[in-house]
Amino acid sequence: MTNSTQLVVIGGGPGGYAAAFLAADLGLQVTLIDEATDPGGVCLYDGCIPSKALLHVAKVLTEASEAQAWGVDFGKPKLDIVRLREWKEGVVRKLAGGLGQLAVQRGVVYLQGRAELLGSTTVRVIGSDHDVTDSQFEHAILATGSRPASPSGLSFESQYVWDSTQALEIHEVPESLLVVGGGYIGLELGSVYAALGSAVTLVEMTSGLLPEADRDLTAMVTRRLEAACEAILLETRVVGLAEEPNGVRVTLKGPAVGQSDQLFDRVLLAVGRTPNSEIPGLHRTGVKCDPRGFVVVDEQGRTAEPTIFAVGDLVGEPMLAHKANHEARIAVSAIVGRDSASGPATIPAVVFTDPEVAWCGLTEAQAKVEGRAVQVCRFPWGASGRAVTLGHSAGITKLIVDPISERILGVGIAGTGAGELIAEGVVAIEFGATVSDLRDCVHPHPTLSETLMESAEVFFGQSTHIYRPKRNR
Ligand code: FAD
Ligand code: NAD
Repeated sequence: MTNSTQLVVIGGGPGGYAAAFLAADLGLQVTLIDEATDPGGVCLYDGCIPSKALLHVAKVLTEASEAQAWGVDFGKPKLDIVRLREWKEGVVRKLAGGLGQLAVQRGVVYLQGRAELLGSTTVRVIGSDHDVTDSQFEHAILATGSRPASPSGLSFESQYVWDSTQALEIHEVPESLLVVGGGYIGLELGSVYAALGSAVTLVEMTSGLLPEADRDLTAMVTRRLEAACEAILLETRVVGLAEEPNGVRVTLKGPAVGQSDQLFDRVLLAVGRTPNSEIPGLHRTGVKCDPRGFVVVDEQGRTAEPTIFAVGDLVGEPMLAHKANHEARIAVSAIVGRDSASGPATIPAVVFTDPEVAWCGLTEAQAKVEGRAVQVCRFPWGASGRAVTLGHSAGITKLIVDPISERILGVGIAGTGAGELIAEGVVAIEFGATVSDLRDCVHPHPTLSETLMESAEVFFGQSTHIYRPKRNR
């Protein structure tokens, strides 16, 4: 059977479904292709959503134990892993059903199956029951996402070695878990398993966790994880893995352990992700990939093949759902001839640990590397009424400011709810706000959002709740 459509979108993640939905809203005939029953992609089924559902449970467990200090003792938690898993799966099912319905409401044709490009204007979809549908298209958007990468030099398969997808299945809580990689996934899923009761050892090959973030932002989460985990080993690598009857013997090499073997029940590999650019039939088109496998695109998502665009994890870092969504909207705008769309000034990063770590725009470390003069305005949460009422006064909000123009170039936050708070920083940077703009916006009291306003006041040496006079006046 051969159909024709104006736009084909391959991959139903936050890049793909956002593109399909916007294109349909703008009046295009759209076909969206993915192997899952409903759209959602890695983010919904194996990423953002299930991990955040489990992190919520981890936070409840931590807060319940901390409530002892406030005179409330809930006792030792009892874990029903079957119900926990069902709850997490229910969250995913609910959202997946919603996306499926949204596709129907918009008239998007959803084809369940694997896509193969037959050329630059034809796609073949092979369904799970091997039925074949060919579609002619005017434009295609590739949004096939990414998959877990393996640590270089260590290709090893074992029932005891997990990637993030397997860790999120939450079939068991191992007594001991080695997490390899101190990035987003290592910290988030390491926190989940530590809160559920595993003795977690975390190894990171660089000198600090979350290497991209400023050190003052990561200090708090590092301290919390040091308390929650068995060990955090920095500048440490896995140099050998061997399966044993009940686990994996791991050879670690690093300053704290020398070169030594340890037995772990399970190992979670979280050392980055690699793009899914081996799309069947891609070689029949003019689409080009870079040496790391990312599809090469221009600012609006155009590949080297004029009919084909690409977005999301497939086209480069940061591999984040909101980046995929934004790129999708830009690509669709370009396809319908609205070429005014441009890239964002900043893409925020949020690590959903306890406390959360979030940043956007220029970091202090980047400013140093670039030799750029900046003023850093820090507001410690110990001086925030709201943070103290929450029992979370160990947070920090900081602005990175151009001292001449007084424009806000970067924002960093570590503390409860940092992921929500950073959105204000994104708006400030996107609209070219100055510290005066932020200072003069009335923020509600008592809220954590006041820490952004007060860090703007720090620039002038006039923060109400900390005494830090401006020097050289
Ligand atoms: P994907 O979501 O990867 O979707 C691609 C889809 O294409 C998949 O469904 C795939 O099956 C399908 N596909 C591939 N090839 C074909 C083909 N030939 N035919 C048909 N279909 C095909 N990001 C955040 O912003 N916030 C978070 O909190 C967050 N948490 C995460 C937690 C984990 C554990 C992981 C792994 C990732 C997380 N991410 C998070 C990253 C986020 O999931 C990705 O950035 C996002 O999913 C990328 O979207 P995408 O549309 O590019 O691709
Ligand atoms: P990552 O790039 O965030 O972190 C990987 C870490 O592993 C790095 O710190 C790196 O130095 C370390 N590493 C690499 N090789 C190693 C080795 N052999 N031994 C020890 N450490 C090693 O990758 P990730 O944690 O796998 O996550 C993949 C991507 O998924 C992220 O980059 C992010 O884009 C996305 N993600 C986002 C969120 C979120 O937005 N909250 C959550 C999860 C995942």
